[in-house]
Amino acid sequence: MPAPLTTLPRLVAAGLTDASEVAALAPVVAEFRVLVPPALASVIGAPDDPVGRQVLPSVNEAVIRPEELADPIGDRAHEPVPGLTHRYPDRAILHLTQTCAVYCRFCFRRETVGDAGTLSDTALDAIFAHLAATPAIREVILTGGDPMVLSARRLGAVIDRLAALGTLDAIRIHTRVPVVAPERITAAMIRALKGPVTVWLVVHTNHVQELGAEARAALGRLVDAGVPLLSQTVLLRGVNDRAEVLEALFRALYRLRVKPYYLHHCDLARGAGHFRTSIAAGQAIMADLRGRLTGAALPTYVLDIPGGHGKVPIAPGYLEPGPGGWLVTDPQGRTHTYTDPA
Ligand SMILES: *Cc1c(COP(=O)(O)O)cnc(C)c1O
Repeated sequence: MPAPLTTLPRLVAAGLTDASEVAALAPVVAEFRVLVPPALASVIGAPDDPVGRQVLPSVNEAVIRPEELADPIGDRAHEPVPGLTHRYPDRAILHLTQTCAVYCRFCFRRETVGDAGTLSDTALDAIFAHLAATPAIREVILTGGDPMVLSARRLGAVIDRLAALGTLDAIRIHTRVPVVAPERITAAMIRALKGPVTVWLVVHTNHVQELGAEARAALGRLVDAGVPLLSQTVLLRGVNDRAEVLEALFRALYRLRVKPYYLHHCDLARGAGHFRTSIAAGQAIMADLRGRLTGAALPTYVLDIPGGHGKVPIAPGYLEPGPGGWLVTDPQGRTHTYTDPA
């Protein structure tokens, strides 16, 4: 397996960045790290195709808009212990590592991922003390960074320790690894995910072009082993902001036994403005998809309210108050009345 692409000269040598752009891109990659793993590089056909745009540095990232934020979803606003974000009563996020298998150019944690590394044992002990003292937390979500860059042994040890708390309904891992580095989904990794508490995997993928043969096989291995899979997608201008493109992705995931869970509106990360659509554009796409796809393959379109106020569905409205009840809009855009009990 060739090495991941992490520098401008290597991107130029791979034919993914134009040599004439290197000087302009140097400050961008100095601020926001680059890493394109080999399996993902192999599915990039051209630098400006839907996969290339997500992971190759662009001079557009030097444009910072006034509304953009260093911590767009307010992770740091709800951090009882370093490395743990506890915003909802019943679930908390554990940032096991700040490393990823790929650095996405639109990442909402782009200010923190890349260099801080993995939690120390002392930091992890403090987090486990908080979890043990807070039984209201019923689910721990491992994210970061990408927890699946850790070894199967290390990740398995954390999962076992979480299960041993005895208070969790589920453990969830949000990851890009099965899609961008499918060779990491080994038998040992799958064994690490299987224990007395169910581990749900939420796979981040934004375009069907990412789902090459190896990625599909890795997803198949996970589902065959009984690991339940969901997906999350970020709505990205120039990548997947058309109903046909998202339909192809959600159909592929549905076939692969992955339930589309969330479509995230692109967060206000610094230097990611070229990826952001309007919310109205996202709602129009969702309305279109509702008429094309089974509800089982449709994710919920959500906004993470800037400042750490939580995620809310922002789907197009199908209901408005009407005489004696409601006016309901069908997938073709016609309205009908619905009468509530008196
Ligand atoms: C997104 C998020 C969660 C998980 O939300 P779900 O709706 O359960 O997927 C939990 N905590 C924080 C801080 C989050 O940002």
